[in-house]
Amino acid sequence: MNSIKLTLVTTLILLAVSLLIYIFNLHNFILAKLYHIDRYYFKNFFYKNFVERLNFIYRWALPGLYLTLFVGLVLNFFKYTFNELENPRTLLISSSLLTNAASFIAAIIIDPGQLSNINNLNNDALIAKFPYNELIFFNHKSDIGKNYCRTCKLLKIPRSKHCSTCDKCFLLFDHHCIWLNNCVGYYNYKWFILFLISLCWCLIYGSHLCFTVLKNQLLMYRNGQIIGSQNFATKFNLNDHTLMQKCIAYFTIMTKTSLTNERTGIIFLLCSIFSVVVAWFTLEHIYYLYLGMTTNESSKWELLRYLISKECIYYKYYEDTENENKIEKLYLIKDFDGVFYKLSDENCAVDVTGAQLFKVTDMKKEIDNVYDHGFWNNVKERIITPSYL
Ligand SMILES: [Zn+2]
Ligand SMILES: [Zn+2]
Repeated sequence: MNSIKLTLVTTLILLAVSLLIYIFNLHNFILAKLYHIDRYYFKNFFYKNFVERLNFIYRWALPGLYLTLFVGLVLNFFKYTFNELENPRTLLISSSLLTNAASFIAAIIIDPGQLSNINNLNNDALIAKFPYNELIFFNHKSDIGKNYCRTCKLLKIPRSKHCSTCDKCFLLFDHHCIWLNNCVGYYNYKWFILFLISLCWCLIYGSHLCFTVLKNQLLMYRNGQIIGSQNFATKFNLNDHTLMQKCIAYFTIMTKTSLTNERTGIIFLLCSIFSVVVAWFTLEHIYYLYLGMTTNESSKWELLRYLISKECIYYKYYEDTENENKIEKLYLIKDFDGVFYKLSDENCAVDVTGAQLFKVTDMKKEIDNVYDHGFWNNVKERIITPSYL
């Protein structure tokens, strides 16, 4: 195995291992064990220097591995595949790659919207921009303490969340992205989505270009346009036409002919596989934009949908005592014993004697998502992000 293949295989294995560690949350388990050993046997000698550094290395491992793979594939593409293209669109290829690299770096270095410098003045502006909807984000009037983050002691602005990995609260929190080692939030969401879309494009376009080169090579081998290829075509049976035979013919071209075809084949396979995964993520995010929700909110809405399907959610109108004319909806959850609780607080039973209650049966018709302003406005909201902090 040559050094390039070894690097590729090592990078892919490390990527898979890091991903598995993250998925099964093994990283916290390993760190807790190391901390335990250090405390008992070495009296916290290593903790600051070693365990914290290990945590730091782990968090940067995935972005580092991604970058290694990206740079490796691009270099190999320009060294081998690019020269074989009949009509190379240099400007399109280089601008696609540069957009992807720039958006990746921007999504990493731009602050997602840390809620640490808020004063009372912009708190009001933020609540006006991101109001409580009393369905998934609640203004706990009777227990004000619940409106504050337990760790940062800051006001929990609706749609924001405390990230346990970054240990900070972020405005319009979407998710913590392990590929960026950064949260995705109010200020860097546009760079994140640009990164996803451009990566998707680079992978699909890359696999198309590689396939064109391989197809051309197969044709030349079949037609005997390369010295000695006539015998080669007969020997490896490159002339058959069923799908399986075509796949075998391409596989033979990738593995048994030239170094260029081998590298082009590797880039083609990796681009094709990753394009499916990245396209899935991209479409998921575009769908969330269409629905007017973040990744973090999607599970909250899903829970509400589940409760509605179980016929647990009711609402009653009530007059807001603070604003005399304002009539508000109070959402309630009914348990199996027929007791009503506030949706905002599952421990707070509500007396509904004499009240007119309405059961929510159709989420789409009866529940309004105040954060959804229509697809294009939702997109605009993510692109134009005035400073609140
Ligand atoms: Zn917090
Ligand atoms: Zn985070």
